[in-house]
Parts: sequence; C-alpha cells; structure tokens
Amino acid sequence: MLNTLAAVSACGLGTCRPQRLRFLRGLLYNLCNKTKKLHRRTQYAVFGLGNKTYEHYNKVAIYVDKRLEELGANRVFELGLGDDDANIEDDFITWKDRFWPAVCDNFGIEGGGEEVLIRQYRLLEQPDVQPDRIYTGETARLHSMQNQRPPFDAKNPFLAPIKVNRELHKGGGRSCMHIELSIDGSKMRYDAGDHVAMYPINDKSLVEKLGQLCNADLDTVFSLINTDTDSSKKHPFPCPTTYRTALTHYLEITAIPRTHILKELAEYCTDEKEKELLRSMASISPEGKEKYQSWIQDACRNVVHILEDIKSCRPPIDHVCELLPRLQPRYYSISSSAKLHPTDVHVTAVLVEYKTPTGRTNKGVATTYLKNKVPNGSEEVKVPVFIRKSQFRLPTKPETPIIMVGPGTGLAPFRGFIQERQFLRDEGKTVGESVLYFGCRKRSEDYIYESELEEWVKKGTLNLKAAFSRDSDKKVYVQHLLEQDADLIWNAIGENKGHFYICGDAKNMAVDVRNILVKILSTKGNMSEADAVQYIKKMEAQKRYSADVWS
Ligand code: FAD
Ligand code: NAP
Repeated sequence: MLNTLAAVSACGLGTCRPQRLRFLRGLLYNLCNKTKKLHRRTQYAVFGLGNKTYEHYNKVAIYVDKRLEELGANRVFELGLGDDDANIEDDFITWKDRFWPAVCDNFGIEGGGEEVLIRQYRLLEQPDVQPDRIYTGETARLHSMQNQRPPFDAKNPFLAPIKVNRELHKGGGRSCMHIELSIDGSKMRYDAGDHVAMYPINDKSLVEKLGQLCNADLDTVFSLINTDTDSSKKHPFPCPTTYRTALTHYLEITAIPRTHILKELAEYCTDEKEKELLRSMASISPEGKEKYQSWIQDACRNVVHILEDIKSCRPPIDHVCELLPRLQPRYYSISSSAKLHPTDVHVTAVLVEYKTPTGRTNKGVATTYLKNKVPNGSEEVKVPVFIRKSQFRLPTKPETPIIMVGPGTGLAPFRGFIQERQFLRDEGKTVGESVLYFGCRKRSEDYIYESELEEWVKKGTLNLKAAFSRDSDKKVYVQHLLEQDADLIWNAIGENKGHFYICGDAKNMAVDVRNILVKILSTKGNMSEADAVQYIKKMEAQKRYSADVWS
C-alpha cells in the first residue's frame, strides 16, 4: 500500500531542515517539469505545514496537491492545511482522523478501531559504557566541544567566547541584552543581515524537577534505539548519554506539549479522572479541544507543570525523553557589520520572561541562558553558535537609498547596516539616503542604542524616525510615521529605486507596515491597490523589498 500512497507533508521552504528541503526541492522540481502523466495507481494525500503570518501560506502544499491531480494521480483524501500560528497539531489530528478511514476505504482495508500506542524507541541502559563514549551535549560528533575543528555549522557549532553582555534598557522592568561574541579563529564569516544561531541549555532546576517527578536517577547512562532497524535515524538524540544531559541539552522541556504527548502521558495516570482529563485534551472533541486550549495553551503549562498538577501521572523518564521534541537552536539577527567587526558578532536579544495564569513564571530557554552568560574576567564564558546566511542584504550599490523599519529588537540587523554605511562613508564612498523607522515603548526606558543612533544622525549617515508608543495618550507606531512620510518613501523607493526592509514582529507589525506601504504606493504612485500589491511583489523579486520577521 505505502508505495502507491504518496503522503506528502510540505512546509515553507525557508524554514525546512536541509534533508527535508532537499526532498521538497526534488519533489517540486520533478512535479514542475514532469510532462508525462502519472499512473492512476499513484495515490496521494497532502497535508501542508504552514503559518498564516507568512504571505505564501502553505503555497507548496497547495501546489503539490493540485499538480499531482493534474498529472493524473488519485487523491485519496482532501488537502489539509496546518497553521502554526494557531494550533497546527489540532489541524493535523482533525485531518488525520478523517484521513485514515478514507485510506482504508480506498484500499479496502478494515479499520482497526482503537488506536494502539506503540513506542518507536527501546531503552537500553548502559552502566558499563566507557566514560569517553558518553555524549555530554555535543550536537553530533563526540567530543566536538573539546576538540573544536572547522568548518563550523549546525552539526558542529563553534564555542564562541562572550566578550560583552550588557543591558540596553534603562527601565520598564524588561531586559534587552547587547552581546558581543568572538568568532576569531573560527574561519566563520558573516555579512550584515545574516543570522547567528545558538544552542542553549535548559535550566538546571527544571531538569532536576522533571527527574524527581519521574522518579529517575538522572545519572543513568542509556540509549534509545529505534525499533525500526531500517530507519536512518537510530537514536532521537546523541546516545549513549545520561538523562541529565538529554534533558539539559537535547530536549525541549519548556515547550507547550502537543496533544499526542498528553495522549501517551494519560497511560501513566493511576487516577481515572486525571487519565480522562489528559485523554480528553488529546481528543478531537470540541470540549477536549477547548480544555486543551485553556488548560495547556492559555495556562502555558509545560511538561513539568503538567506532571506537577496531574499528581498520579508518573511516566518513566525514558518515555518522556522519547516524547519531547528536540531542543532547537535559537536564531538572532546579527546586529553588527563584518566590515567594522570581522571577528565579532553582535546580538541584540530581549529576555523572554512572563507570568502564567497558574502563577508560575515561565522563562525563555535561550535568553535566560544568555542572561547568565556574563564574562567575569577570570575564565572564558562561551556559547555554541553557527552562522546562517540570509537573503537580508544591503543593496550592492552603496548609493541606493534604503528605508529600514525595525521597532524593538527589529532594530538588530539595521544596526549592522548602518555601521556598514558609516564605514563606507568614512572610506570616502558616496552612500545613498538611509532612513530608519524605529519604535519602542518609552524614550526613557527601551530606546535601545540611543546614543549610537544619534551619533549617526549627527554625522549625516542616518535619517532617524522614532515612534514612542507609550509616551503619549495615543499610540504612535512606526507605520504612523511612515504614513506621514509618504512623499519621502515614494521618492526613495518609487523614484530612486531604493530598497525597503522590515524586521521584527511578524504577527502584527510586519503586516501593518506592508499595508501602509501598499497605501503609500497607491496614493503616491497613482496605482490601484492591486497594482500596488504587484509592485511590492516585483520589488521582492528584485530583492528591493525584504522582511526578516519572527513571531
Ligand atoms: P523560548 O523558550 O523559545 O520561549 C519563547 C516562547 O514563549 C514563544 O514562542 C511563546 O510561545 C512563548 N511566550 C513568549 N512570551 C510569552 C508571553 N508573554 N505569554 C505567553 N507565551 C509567551 N529575538 C531577539 O530578541 N533578537 C533578535 O535579533 C532575533 N532575531 C531573530 C531572527 C530570526 C530569523 C528568528 C526566527 C528569530 C529571532 N529572534 C530574535 C527570536 C529568537 O530566535 C528566540 O525565539 C527568542 O530569543 C526566544 O527564545 P527563548 O529560547 O529565550 O524563548
Ligand atoms: P516590543 O518592545 O514588544 O515592541 C516594540 C514597539 O513596537 C513597541 O513600541 C510596541 O508598542 C510597538 N508595536 C506593537 N504592536 C505594533 C504594531 N502592530 N505595529 C507597529 N508597532 C507595534 O518589541 P520586542 O520586545 O523587541 O519584540 C518585537 C517582537 O518580536 C514582539 O512582537 C515579540 O512578540 C517578538 N519576539 C518574540 C520572541 C519570542 O519569544 N518568540 C522573542 C523576542 C521578540 P506597544 O507595546 O506599546 O503596543
């Protein structure tokens, strides 16, 4: 059955892992170029992994679904679209619930009724393994942190010393860090606009707590071994290792658990009511979904909180390690220019810390880890990093005007851009107009890099427009200033073919700014709204409109 069923999950190409990206690229290439009809026995169903905050929401999945039909394949079940901005797992399980009966129907198979939970990995405890064969947090190669060897990348991060870690906010109760990492001797290069990725570790006390809740000895050496011997993925993370290392370095223990985890945890409840609560939240019933939304998502409960609150649930630690997702590196827009700082990478990171409705304080993994990484002079403080190239680039010609829109930490890459333009001016080059729209809450609290920005203004390198949203009765945002400056914007991008950049919040700010740009283009460029949208698309194709946004 499986060789005739092409079940494809497609995601935004920009965010794919390399292996999945290669598969998708190959698939798309074949589908685009295929002229010969597929055999009718080629059966397929597509579920797309997308996020509605992105313009090309699930475009790949929609295309693949349509194209397979055009090529004559048989669609076994309707296209499903997952939205990671809402609840992608809910979208998937709702789709999957109807997908399997359709598959069984199509192939004349009788459904098996109750779902049976089967573990993908088996536990092997290894008390006798040689200490130097045990992974202690390496991403891939054993001892890679001790024997650092270039090239450095996602599988082989560079341990970068932190040279500076200072506070940028002057008040307001939040924290934003300016961090300088040394990449000297790493052979890593970057351009302004690139990202630096960092592997964080989880909070030690949370790891201990999870160990206690599972009655585990965290120093046990173990491996999880894939029961599918044909699978190329032998272990879910580097093994053999200890539970302490797995929970500290390899697993996302503070993420909000998806419903399939709750379903598995339910099996370990000795209290029937608690078992039912977990089962119902993992179900697709309207009440179950509502409960999952309020009890898990709105309450921001992670696996530790769930085990604290569901007292009869005591799963074995190895199963928890199998269920939790892999800890991901966090990306930061580099806030320096390599022209000025070839061996340093600057990062501008806002600390994630918030109170939850259950009275707990949740802390962001990476930003909390970074907050504690302050150089003290006596010993080096290092973090594992690699650099990811981006498409967010200054124009090749320095004379080209640029408009940069970056409220909050959205300022990060533009600091690098402005440093670079100042450097070129200092070398006697002619540099086009550089306009920055920056926004923060209060001038006296979170106006980050204030003195640097004002210095660039004084030198004539920067035209700065600042919006302080909480300094007056009425909110002032960057898009309000853009609207006031419609002539300037049109002059820069319409008449002088300048570049337009947005960085920061994807969910609201980037959408609002794009909408204002459409308005400015249609008014000043005498275009219809549809033509203005097309104009931006053309700018994007010419790399004159770029967004570096996250949510
Ligand atoms: P996590 O442990 O990952 O927790 C973050 C999660 O907590 C959020 O996803 C959200 O689900 C939840 N959360 C956060 N606040 C709340 C709240 N108030 N209520 C409820 N839930 C909440 N960040 C920067 O600071 N500077 C940058 O320059 C920067 N550049 C980026 C560039 C790119 C391309 C991308 C993708 C992201 C960038 N980020 C940047 C974001 C950064 O990668 C991390 O996501 C961020 O630092 C949080 O990581 P963390 O591990 O501390 O938090
Ligand atoms: P911030 O301080 O929250 O916001 C910067 C400025 O943008 C504030 O003046 C804010 O005003 C304003 N603003 C709010 N909504 C806006 C809109 N629709 N259009 C234009 N401006 C708007 O910025 P930050 O802390 O650097 O964070 C930037 C964004 O990145 C945030 O939205 C945050 O969600 C996201 N972020 C996410 C993570 C994460 O954990 N995944 C980490 C860091 C940042 P008001 O606040 O007064 O409305």
